[in-house]
Amino acid sequence: MNFKNVTVAGSGVLGYQIAFQTAFHGFKVTVYDINDEVLDKAKAKFDRLSKAYIHDLQATDEQLKATFENLSYCSDLAEAVKDADLLIEAVPENPKIKISFYEKLAVVAPEKTVFATNSSTLLPSQFAAATQRPEKFVALHFANEIWKHNTAEIMGHPGTNEQVFNEVVDFAKAIGMIALPLYKEQPGYILNSLLVPLLGAATNLLVNGVSDVKTIDKTWMVATGAPVGPFGILDVVGITTAYNINKMAADKTQDPIKIKTVAFLKENFIDKGKLGVATGEGFYKY
Ligand code: NAD
Repeated sequence: MNFKNVTVAGSGVLGYQIAFQTAFHGFKVTVYDINDEVLDKAKAKFDRLSKAYIHDLQATDEQLKATFENLSYCSDLAEAVKDADLLIEAVPENPKIKISFYEKLAVVAPEKTVFATNSSTLLPSQFAAATQRPEKFVALHFANEIWKHNTAEIMGHPGTNEQVFNEVVDFAKAIGMIALPLYKEQPGYILNSLLVPLLGAATNLLVNGVSDVKTIDKTWMVATGAPVGPFGILDVVGITTAYNINKMAADKTQDPIKIKTVAFLKENFIDKGKLGVATGEGFYKY
């Protein structure tokens, strides 16, 4: 793996974490976003994030100083990618925004640059043509709080070059991730292919009145040895995300149980501001 210079496009919830984690592991990182005001906000977030690295990873002053020295900022796309070996795209989860971004990027990026999308729900084959380098394009999917929840799912599309795929696997390991390669495209990767049905089944049991939150969680935890049950997980993920996923499914399928779930989540959680761990209460109190 010959990557040295990495550009992260998008400095939102995931982008700034990816940039910091990559810089922490010794890579030169350019953070790109639409304007300098957004980049200034990212800089302020890095200061807060460094406290989490001290608390959770016992990061030293020296390590953090080197991390900040590895970070630079740029709101001009051509300038931001001019030396990039790898570009990690973390722009909003909106196909139109992503396609327009890749079309602009394709024109200005050097030939050597590998592109990786952090998209959670969209498949890399949707953007392969817009990149104009489908063989050097792959998905590299991180989880929120990447320094702690350090999974990196790597997923190619049918046109991804195998060597490029392997380089991205090596890169993921080099920035402290547990690299999890997928052999074919799969909506939701591995994690959400497992998690979404589990969480959906748990809410179905609850909404159908089969059992209650604590009993459902206890069943899962005691029987499988898992430290937390589906409703505990939902509180961490956030009820808003659960609501949005169910709403999309309900609108698409008109499945009565999904429609009932949407109404249940709205009435009991969304409207009451009980959005999970982040607001101090969801299915449980924190
Ligand atoms: P976000 O909305 O917090 O951040 C998006 C950033 O992209 C913003 O800083 C915005 O200014 C910037 N942006 C908008 N248009 C742009 C453009 N044309 N060029 C460059 N930057 C642009 O979004 P997020 O939650 O960080 O998600 C980003 C990607 O990461 C999505 O594809 C999402 O699916 C994925 N992801 C998110 C999470 C999560 O927990 N939030 C987890 C895994 C993956």
